[in-house]
Amino acid sequence: MKTLDRLRQLDVEAGLVERTAALLSWDQETCMPSAAIGERADQLAFLEALAHGKRTLPETGELLLSLGSVSENPEGDACLPEMDRAYLRILRRAWDRATKIPAGLVAEMARAASLSQAAWAKAKEQDDYGAFAPHLKKMIDYNRRIASCLDPGARAYDVLLDRFEEGETEASIAAVLGNLKQELLPLLDRIRGRPQLDDAFLRRPCPKAAQAALSARLLELLGFDTARGRLDTAAHPFSTTLGSSDVRITTRYEEDYFPSSMYGTIHECGHALYELGVDPAPEYRRTSLATASSMAIHESQSRLWENLVGRSRAFCETQLPEMSRSLSPVLDGVSTEAYYRGINRVEASLIRTDADEVSYSLHIILRFELEGALLSGDLSITDLPAAWNAGMKRLLGVEPASDAKGCLQDMHWAFGAIGYFPSYALGNLYAAQWWAAMGEQGLQPDQAVADGGFSRILDWLRQNVHKPGCMFRPAELVRRGSGRPLDPSLFVDYLKEKFAGVYGF
Ligand code: ZN
Repeated sequence: MKTLDRLRQLDVEAGLVERTAALLSWDQETCMPSAAIGERADQLAFLEALAHGKRTLPETGELLLSLGSVSENPEGDACLPEMDRAYLRILRRAWDRATKIPAGLVAEMARAASLSQAAWAKAKEQDDYGAFAPHLKKMIDYNRRIASCLDPGARAYDVLLDRFEEGETEASIAAVLGNLKQELLPLLDRIRGRPQLDDAFLRRPCPKAAQAALSARLLELLGFDTARGRLDTAAHPFSTTLGSSDVRITTRYEEDYFPSSMYGTIHECGHALYELGVDPAPEYRRTSLATASSMAIHESQSRLWENLVGRSRAFCETQLPEMSRSLSPVLDGVSTEAYYRGINRVEASLIRTDADEVSYSLHIILRFELEGALLSGDLSITDLPAAWNAGMKRLLGVEPASDAKGCLQDMHWAFGAIGYFPSYALGNLYAAQWWAAMGEQGLQPDQAVADGGFSRILDWLRQNVHKPGCMFRPAELVRRGSGRPLDPSLFVDYLKEKFAGVYGF
């Protein structure tokens, strides 16, 4: 067997174990009976250890070496085709990382993360931060240990961040988010100076069944293939990939706020469309090359569909009649203009996932600051709720009355994802850049939304973002797709123009 074929075979085998574990995690979040948690944690720990064993086989290291792929030159022999060199780079990075972390630590952390996640869900429900705090402490400790295994000399946060956004550092993110903050705060102030918009109609009672039907219709409209994925409900919406033709997404139905399920579904659909569109080449299907370029690129897809499409004037104009019919009488008497303004109402609020486009990134900035401080030890686990509340007051001018609506609202830290939040803010920036690039390349995305040509947008994304998988690092993917490096001013300009219109200034 040729060396590359054997490498692919080993990679696919490891992927089979990882995706089986992902199925168990999906089940835990959607339909597992609560008493199963102890055994589920053992099952996940076992599979994680098995996958880790597959990822660290000495044979993989030898095969990589024989193709010239070493840590200093991960892409291997210069004579290999571009796609194969990209593949070697991905495998070398994964192998280097996996072999630096002891198998025992991987299993231990997987087990603890599963228990921590369950403890978080309960603590959030009962507004009991004290019950979750010991789990959070463990997750922070595990992250420190992982970072020190990967690169004992580097800043722990940089090492963790690099897992999600290759090439970024705490300093590079701080610079981007710092500049963004300088733009967002005055914009928010400007909006606060205008009369507030009415969105009370969004809180009219809306039965779950009507919302579910709307979600199903939206998925069809946007090109989600129900033969290759499905929508279920979960307390905290997410998407997960179980196979190259099996992407699971979730949403939640709040009977007194239907946009939560509607926009949650569009958001997760964006993630799913990305995963289902990855296809660098037939021989790379099911390999590590057929995965997302980065978490921020992933988020750029969900937020593009949720905001640039779903909250656009064109979408509101064309979709409101059908929505009114299917949700009747919830939107009776609501004009397109009123719906457009209501759904784009800006109000500094407590919950990140419900935040408007202007204040959203401020929620991320808070989490970025706090997780860095937790990791470095500058902030103690005990002091997190107070620091959270103070940060909310400073950045958004509001303070949660409970930890459930404060530091317990997100599940990321509960399952040990430290360094993940910046991806959300970067995702907004990338989304605006894709949109601008479509316009520059003659696609006229707003027109596509207006005439229901969502497939034209999807085709562009497939070609420029989805198809290559992780052949290119995020920075390179953006440069190729949009013709320039990441330019945060595109997002800022988009917000300023849109919200000047929405609020009339
Ligand atoms: Zn997302």
